[in-house]
Amino acid sequence: MNAERTTTAVVLEQGGTALRPLPLRRLRQGEVLLRVRAAGLCGTDLFKLRHHDGAATVLGHEVVGEVIETAGRCRFERGDLVVAAHHVACGVCALCRGGSETQCDGFRENLLDPGGFCTHTILARRAVDHAAYLLDDALDPLAAVFLEPTACVLRALERGGLEHGILSLEPPAPDSVRVVVQGAGSMGLLHLLVIRALGLHAEIVIAEPDPARRRLAERLGADRTVWPPPTGLDADVVFDTVGGGAALRQAIELARRGGTVVLFAHADDDSDAALPFNRLFRSEQRIVASYSGSAREQGLAFQLLSSGALDPRTLVTHELPLDAFDIGVEHCRAGRALKVVFRPHYEAAPARPMALPATA
Ligand SMILES: [Zn+2]
Ligand SMILES: [Zn+2]
Repeated sequence: MNAERTTTAVVLEQGGTALRPLPLRRLRQGEVLLRVRAAGLCGTDLFKLRHHDGAATVLGHEVVGEVIETAGRCRFERGDLVVAAHHVACGVCALCRGGSETQCDGFRENLLDPGGFCTHTILARRAVDHAAYLLDDALDPLAAVFLEPTACVLRALERGGLEHGILSLEPPAPDSVRVVVQGAGSMGLLHLLVIRALGLHAEIVIAEPDPARRRLAERLGADRTVWPPPTGLDADVVFDTVGGGAALRQAIELARRGGTVVLFAHADDDSDAALPFNRLFRSEQRIVASYSGSAREQGLAFQLLSSGALDPRTLVTHELPLDAFDIGVEHCRAGRALKVVFRPHYEAAPARPMALPATA
């Protein structure tokens, strides 16, 4: 770290993004300064880019970094490679006690200063204490960077009623369930990989219009891929990773009577869905939303990643330097990328064959 304590960050401001040096504040007790090794671009970042209010901000929250400075007593030391989540619930409020940790007021606070898409970032004490994990040599930062998205998926599975055997890591229930995942983007495919990593008895059907993505889903272990989804799938659970009214209505169509639809994606701000009331009412279907992961799910996500049971690196189609931020965003928007990971300290973008063949 140089003496003047700056980080070079992708700053989102009026008119777009720019790579700028930003001053870094002094560390407070219990905080660590990370040299960012990998930062994942996720749907939430894309949503915030789309709905930016103009205030200068640094996005990015899926971070692996090397500890280069600590303040006071701390679980980590210089040279440690850690992966951290940026949200931590308080654990004691009524929402936390009721199982809605991701709705806790404390959870909303961003524990990365200034963010993930930068060369260096400060990890606040609460994240250091409750949401940071030490990587051993066997765990590739490119896999570890999936900690937060994996935690989100684990919570979605739980909210979808697949929790048996998940949080306890007990043997899975013998009865197979039929799961439909809408969308074979990075989050849809991560649902598939996590369900397989957990060893759940689930038949997994992926509904996805893009043939290249369907082929990839089959390679990654989907039992079936469909488009357009046929009637009569009668899924126990449908995970919608696409978002928007049309996708939600389709998910309701695909779920069985009494089945569950898990809403797992942003839609455009202020959009709504015209829902088939009577069908919902008579079929006793449940629609539940799942938007993040709590400390519990983060811990389990780390177990899955560090044990090697889950290896999501195959979803990384692009590793890019920070000055290619807009290019990475464009690849995602155009559907050419699955997971884009920024590597702030790479001299040049490493050549990496695209896992996803280009589509017309
Ligand atoms: Zn994310
Ligand atoms: Zn709380």
